[in-house]
Amino acid sequence: MNKEKKSIVVLGSTGSVGLSTLSVIEQNKDRFETFALTAHSRIDLLIEQCHRFEPKYLVVSDPNQLSNLKSKIETAGLDVIALAGQDGLNEIVQHDFVDFVVSGIVGAAGLGPIHKALLTGKTVLVANKEPIVMAGDFLARVARECEGVILPVDSEHNAIFQCLSPLLPPYYSEQGISKILLTASGGPFLQTSLADLRNVTVAQAIKHPKWNMGRKISVDSATMMNKGLEVIEAHHLFAVPAEAIEVVIHPQSIVHSMVQYIDGSTLAQLANPDMRVPIAHCLNYPKRVKLNVDHVSVKDILTLQFQEPDFKRFPCLPLAYEALSHGSAAVIGLNAINEVIVDEFLNEKIGFSDIPYFLEAALNAFEAPTPSSIEDVLEVDTAARQCVRQILMKSQTAEHGLSN
Ligand code: NAD
Ligand code: MG
Repeated sequence: MNKEKKSIVVLGSTGSVGLSTLSVIEQNKDRFETFALTAHSRIDLLIEQCHRFEPKYLVVSDPNQLSNLKSKIETAGLDVIALAGQDGLNEIVQHDFVDFVVSGIVGAAGLGPIHKALLTGKTVLVANKEPIVMAGDFLARVARECEGVILPVDSEHNAIFQCLSPLLPPYYSEQGISKILLTASGGPFLQTSLADLRNVTVAQAIKHPKWNMGRKISVDSATMMNKGLEVIEAHHLFAVPAEAIEVVIHPQSIVHSMVQYIDGSTLAQLANPDMRVPIAHCLNYPKRVKLNVDHVSVKDILTLQFQEPDFKRFPCLPLAYEALSHGSAAVIGLNAINEVIVDEFLNEKIGFSDIPYFLEAALNAFEAPTPSSIEDVLEVDTAARQCVRQILMKSQTAEHGLSN
């Protein structure tokens, strides 16, 4: 390996963010090299990526897949070390050789590796918003104490980052921010009536009009829970209170967010909806390096539209604000409950309109002490998952009883 280049670990390289990251690396082969690639299950794609990017390590997070991975490495004649599970992920993100860790894992599963990477002072590019939602305060503290760096890749948060003074997160107090205008595309059901939302299918929910993303975030975008999570993410990353974060619907997804200052200025960042832009920005920060993507044209910006969000049709968004007002245990609960419910929807066990229904029911039933460590955060997460699973089970039993 060549140390003149920056060494990158791509967590979740087979997913949407992972593929965008590899595309940026491929365009900048003189600056970056892949140290490790990881996936949960798509071993064939991981092997294909190994041929193209020649990493030192491949990690499969599902330990049951290690023998499968090893036999495919052998068959392909590849010179790469195979690891598995949480231990494998932790080992590679903490390796001395690594400069950047890009977290494109989906959900709470990304918390462990992000935490471990920050503990060894790595620069972590976070697309994986759920760990920031769950444990933003703790991760910011670890970053400060261990000289790690969190760079925001989520497009809105990257836009905010670009509109701020040149300081690294989480050192944002006293910047004179009066408000963050967090833009949202509105998802595939922006124009769908409340009544019609009852009948939408999984296939419709995961077909986002502007972004090609993984299934979980696509459903979150359709319910607008994604924006709720992003309000919390912005609160943690930029030390801005919830009251100062306003969601604005912007269907074209070209203005990725805006920052208003106390002196009357509002700054915005514009780009076509392409995750390679925020990823490349963070990988090259503070430099700007040429990226082969479509630039925004004058024609594109002639038709930009903005409107207020509809809290009635999209109740997940106000539920996220409410959880934030109740404190960190409620926020961890919100995230965990949402992950379980979205999974149920994706497995066609519940309908689309059941998502906010069960979210609210479980949040009302869930209580937990305020966590004082990352270990506590994981306990609250587990308890919230148990709580919503019981509620789902009871409702299935009641439904079954009714139909008998
Ligand atoms: P995805 O489903 O396309 O990919 C997820 C990746 O994580 C895959 O490589 C998968 O193998 C891996 N993975 C899944 N479960 C895992 C587990 N338990 N442990 C370890 N790895 C696991 O998802 P995505 O759309 O790329 O989103 C990834 C994260 O980035 C999410 O948190 C999402 O909210 C965030 N994000 C995505 C986009 C986007 O454009 N896709 C934009 C902003 C933020
Ligand atoms: Mg986003």
